Amino acid sequence: MNKRTFIKLCSAFVAGRMLSPLMARQGRSELRNWAGNLEYGTRRLYVPDTLDEAKRFVKETQEFKVLGTRHCFNSIADTSTKLLSLRNLDKIVALDPAGPNVTVEAGITYGQLAPYLHSKGFALHNLASLPHISVAGACSTATHGSGQGNGNLSTAVIGLEMLTASGETLKLSAGKDGDAFLGAVVGLGALGVITKITLRLQPTFMVSQYVYEDLPFSQLKENFDKIESSGYSVSLFTDWQKQRVNELWIKSRMEPGQAFDAKPEFFGAKLATRNLHPIAELSAENCTEQMGVPGPWYERLPHFRMGFTPSAGKELQSEYFVPRQHAIEATLAIERLREQISPHLLISEIRAIAADNFWMSPCYKQPSVAIHFTWRQDWPAVRALLPIIERELAPFKPRPHWGKLFTISPAQLKPSYEKLPEFLQLAKKLDPQGKFRNDFLNTNLFGG
Ligand SMILES: Cc1cc2nc3c(=O)[nH]c(=O)nc-3n(C[C@H](O)[C@H](O)[C@H](O)COP(=O)(O)OP(=O)(O)OC[C@H]3O[C@@H](n4cnc5c(N)ncnc54)[C@H](O)[C@@H]3O)c2cc1C
Repeated sequence: MNKRTFIKLCSAFVAGRMLSPLMARQGRSELRNWAGNLEYGTRRLYVPDTLDEAKRFVKETQEFKVLGTRHCFNSIADTSTKLLSLRNLDKIVALDPAGPNVTVEAGITYGQLAPYLHSKGFALHNLASLPHISVAGACSTATHGSGQGNGNLSTAVIGLEMLTASGETLKLSAGKDGDAFLGAVVGLGALGVITKITLRLQPTFMVSQYVYEDLPFSQLKENFDKIESSGYSVSLFTDWQKQRVNELWIKSRMEPGQAFDAKPEFFGAKLATRNLHPIAELSAENCTEQMGVPGPWYERLPHFRMGFTPSAGKELQSEYFVPRQHAIEATLAIERLREQISPHLLISEIRAIAADNFWMSPCYKQPSVAIHFTWRQDWPAVRALLPIIERELAPFKPRPHWGKLFTISPAQLKPSYEKLPEFLQLAKKLDPQGKFRNDFLNTNLFGG
């Protein structure tokens, strides 16, 4: 993070749109990420209305970064050159019921897409904690939800269309392009401008969500696998105090053999009698419906409702993936740091994610557990804590979330991605002059 970061939460995202000259200046307003902790290094933002305009921009611009919905907490989307937003390219291109799959323009958010899919009888396999994020930005950083049988959101991708540095269109598909496809889906914004994505669908389904309070760590330790397999998507929220998981969220598909039998007690935890927010003192109004009330997948799989602020708002986030087999040890390692962590923490969440084959995915060939931290927005304090957490997790070879805050050195990060050399080669081929590079990519992946 550089000194531009971590300035007080203030102005909203005011994107201008001008074709002559191409760049829209922001005037005095600043361009910030969603959390407000990062002021982007430029106010020059271009928002094309058509694919042709986007193509022209890519051809004519020497260096720039694409912005999605700006939900990353670190500088992965930052640049001091120019920014491109595809938020006006947010159409549903085609729904193929026979696939079934859907092709969308890259600027669409899950919140826009999901109700449409449901209305047509289809669903995605999973969603993140919030539906507000763009499909392209989420897949580019391997954004995930929960559920040990569920790969991250990018595992639904079966086709991509992107503009390479020359402005040419490159089409990649799971069926035809093997390695290049596996390298490009979690592309970290380093390979090109994704303009269209094709996502695998399944028949729509209903989900019910139950929350339990105060699950003792002793029970978690003894019964981790049973707890993780109790639902389609399971989340453990803890403040690391009192040796317990504060809230256990179980989301079950309402299908024969999958519905959750919500007993008043579950491994020592008590069934909640009202809707809860993961941060107990915040209003549950922002959260998806609980108490077993059935609802469509897209209104239960995220924790937060579209149209409402997700999480706390003014916050920072960090998250580390460790191999599933180390879930308990890694959790207990963090628990030992509770006195240092607690003053700065809003809440932690532990989720399981299935392995995948995407080169730069933190779950590459590795069933994983992700330990997440929602921090108070105090970067000096968090920056001091992260190396301590990372040291405790080091024996488990943690991989940080690409869109969240971490201090793991490039020397430690790079060897944890065995396909990094191939990824760098792919980047060199599609972007020989480094048009899509920025400090984050140069420091963490391309340097040395
Ligand atoms: C409140 C909150 C809750 C969150 N919950 C979760 C969660 O449950 N699980 C999880 O894993 N993460 C979570 N995140 C993190 C979030 O999902 C990721 O940061 C994700 O990348 C956000 O997508 P975005 O569109 O906002 O991306 P941005 O921050 O705008 O961009 C991210 C990256 O994608 C690239 N990119 C964007 N669009 C394109 C494109 N069209 N072509 C090529 N590259 C592109 C950018 O250049 C950049 O490198 C959460 C974040 C917040 C703020």
